[in-house]
Amino acid sequence: MAATVSDLLLDWYDAHARDLPWRARPGEPAPDPYRVWLSEVMLQQTTVAAVKPYFAAFTTRWPSVEALAAAPEADVMAAWAGLGYYSRARNLVKCAAAVAERGGFPETEAGLRELPGLGAYTAAAIAAIAFGERAVVVDANVERVVARLFAVEEPLPAARKAIRQRADEVTPDDRAGDFAQAMMDLGATICTARDPKCLLCPLSEVCEGRAAGDPARLPIKAAKKPKPVRQGQAFWIEREGAVWLVRRAGQGMLGGMRALPDDGWSARGNGTGEAPLDASWDSAGLVRHSFTHFALELSVLSASVERDPDGAGEWWPLERIEEAGLPTLFAKAARLALA
Ligand code: SF4
Repeated sequence: MAATVSDLLLDWYDAHARDLPWRARPGEPAPDPYRVWLSEVMLQQTTVAAVKPYFAAFTTRWPSVEALAAAPEADVMAAWAGLGYYSRARNLVKCAAAVAERGGFPETEAGLRELPGLGAYTAAAIAAIAFGERAVVVDANVERVVARLFAVEEPLPAARKAIRQRADEVTPDDRAGDFAQAMMDLGATICTARDPKCLLCPLSEVCEGRAAGDPARLPIKAAKKPKPVRQGQAFWIEREGAVWLVRRAGQGMLGGMRALPDDGWSARGNGTGEAPLDASWDSAGLVRHSFTHFALELSVLSASVERDPDGAGEWWPLERIEEAGLPTLFAKAARLALA
């Protein structure tokens, strides 16, 4: 079955590969590892449609890993604003510096794994796509396709080991990069989470999940615990056509990003409710935002003041608020305050 799966999938990929800005078409020379790396980091937890404009902006501004390595971290964080999961941007800067220092990307999966902040999936993807190494690339799309293809009944996350082993069995020695991208494309366009289009699928004849009926129920997922809900406050402080912005501490939630001052809420607990200065506060509304491990209900309070709040910060002109690089949570709060 292994050879059949890779042959069927690669034939399909030759005819139907998605045209993506970070990709080489089948048969073209392998793409620049910098572009593969950047796109793979951006695509974690984020859709292709959302990533495209960011990828274009990053590669225009920083066309090489050396250029990115030389950029101030604050500029990279601001350019990342809106993509979410900001630890990815911090790791991006660290990793770019390490790559620039060693004079280029390592060309093997094992070498790539040694770079700071570069995980197993990304290392395998770069090794296969940019360097043609036979690496087993398993993301959520591939996990879904393989679970269906082999009718894996064990629930995730326990099934990961079995799925990886099956993915290894079907990965060919040649064209491992095209195979990985073909699996990603199949998962994104045909074997989709809710509505697998088995009639259009190149693997329909060999798919055990389809033969067993109702493949959409696979992969089975263990029931998730509900996320805890945290409450916090953010403060919109205005003076003479400007708003007071702070920079969040380097590590931790939204670390290094420009933000509104808040009352210290975190994944572990609610905020204190304390404002950064005495003022006549008005409620501007509530922002609900979902993080990986918790949900946040953020009350936005606004006030006009006559003096600087205590601590470090900067007055940011209101008419240029879009350029502040606020992460989505605080951009939502800003829209409420300005409404
Ligand atoms: S036949 Fe259906 S379930 Fe099986 S891999 Fe193709 S789209 Fe997915």
